[in-house]
Amino acid sequence: GANQVFVPREALSLISAAANQPVFGVYDTYMGYGIVGGDLVSFERQGGEAATLALRVLEGEPPASIPFGGEQAYVRVYDWRELKRWGISEKALPPGSVVEFKSGSMWEEHRKVILGGMFFIAIETLLLVGLFVNLHRRRRAEAEIAEAALRYRTVADHVYDWEYWLAPDGSMNYLSPSCEHITGYSVREFMDDPALFHKIILPEDREMWDEHGHDVPDRPNTSEIQFRIRTKNGEIRWIDHACQPVHDGQGKFLGMRASNRDVSKRKEAEFEVRQQQDELAHVTRVATLGELTSSIAHEINQPLAAIRNYANAAQRLLSKSEPDLSKAKDALEGILRDDRRAAEVISRARELLRKEEPRYRPVRLNQVIREILAFIRSDAILEGLTIETKFVPELPVVLGDRVQLQQVILNLMLNAMDAMNKVKPELRKLVIKTENDENRDVKVSVRDFGEGIDEALRDKLFEPFFTTKTKGIGMGLAISQRIIHAHGGSIWVENDPGGGATFCFTLPAGNKVTPSDWRTVTDD
Ligand code: ADP
Repeated sequence: GANQVFVPREALSLISAAANQPVFGVYDTYMGYGIVGGDLVSFERQGGEAATLALRVLEGEPPASIPFGGEQAYVRVYDWRELKRWGISEKALPPGSVVEFKSGSMWEEHRKVILGGMFFIAIETLLLVGLFVNLHRRRRAEAEIAEAALRYRTVADHVYDWEYWLAPDGSMNYLSPSCEHITGYSVREFMDDPALFHKIILPEDREMWDEHGHDVPDRPNTSEIQFRIRTKNGEIRWIDHACQPVHDGQGKFLGMRASNRDVSKRKEAEFEVRQQQDELAHVTRVATLGELTSSIAHEINQPLAAIRNYANAAQRLLSKSEPDLSKAKDALEGILRDDRRAAEVISRARELLRKEEPRYRPVRLNQVIREILAFIRSDAILEGLTIETKFVPELPVVLGDRVQLQQVILNLMLNAMDAMNKVKPELRKLVIKTENDENRDVKVSVRDFGEGIDEALRDKLFEPFFTTKTKGIGMGLAISQRIIHAHGGSIWVENDPGGGATFCFTLPAGNKVTPSDWRTVTDD
């Protein structure tokens, strides 16, 4: 009426849009224009079926034998949008239905993009989380390092000993502030003058310092020495020094770590004790010598008597009308010889009585023993004692205090003699022996044939004031032990299976000796 033309699809769209009921159609070409759907004629399917029939006819099949079909020309489709519009459930559709125009969700339509985006976000998130974790870890590590450094610094800066770490090039990596209370010099002063350390070591001790291997990287052990320094205000301090090379995990040399302890107070105390012990040693020496007075008197009287005889003879020879000059000369020589002998005995006795600081020098022990033997010879003869000596001729020299070592040997011999008091005189024998020990030590043993040592008392013998003698003081072995220990040796006693006791002591051979009190070593 309005002169307007509608093709069916347009009309269908308008009708469907205005309809209040579902709209149905018969052709599948109406799908999408407003019909709900159903079993619809499909022109495409019809065309296909007609073409199949035509082909069979063309191939010679009689048309009459081909049955009429047509079922294939339908499709069972529904419009998803219309089903939704009219509230028809997909479940209510007959079997085999195809629902078209299903408007896919965002997900269905943009799956790839969404997946891509999500993947990207996931990666980004992972990266971010990684970064945060990393950052956190780094912060924690930094905090830990800072805390460790603080702890280390607090410990190092407050150590009482004077600690340092020397870099391989000799520069100072670290120096504890405690250097100041020990040396009087500050950390700055040490840092500014790398040679200061060496300078404050006492000149006498520098050689030892230079030799102790302070800059040898492959030295496996800790090296320990003791030396003295002069502090800024001129005081002398004793330092216990220990150093060792430091290497990292790969074995790279990182320098030297060292620790210096001020042991001056301990040293002073040690010196005091030693001084007191020296006093005591002197007193006991005087006492020991007291025991030998008769022997010493005899040793001096003998040459004096001989001198008197020689002098008388000389007088006689010279007062003759024809003086026998050659015999008189012999007599005079005799006087001189015996005078020397008397003088020697006196000087040795004086030496033993001498009151001096111990002095370490090279000492030949065979010689020392011979001198002592000269002393006690008369006593020995009086007591009917045989003294046998077994000396190793090439005994190494030891470094020691001659008088103190004489005192030890004298003590051991007098004890041995005392031990044989009750033995028949013809069985009294004393064997004194020197040997080379397998460790290149020198060993001296004094053996007697007395009653031996009571095993129960063995540990007590070396204690001060232990004695079993009525007139004993009990200091002889105690002092002997102290002297031998101070010389870096050891002393002990064994009972001999053949009867009697053997007192032995060893001393390190002179070339490997470090006396505990090397301060007193002199090379004269
Ligand atoms: P003292 O000789 O004044 O007793 P020592 O310290 O020299 O002091 O000796 C301590 C003790 O060791 C002696 O009293 C003695 O009992 C014992 N003793 C020392 N030497 C011997 C020895 N050769 N044989 C047996 N006992 C010994």
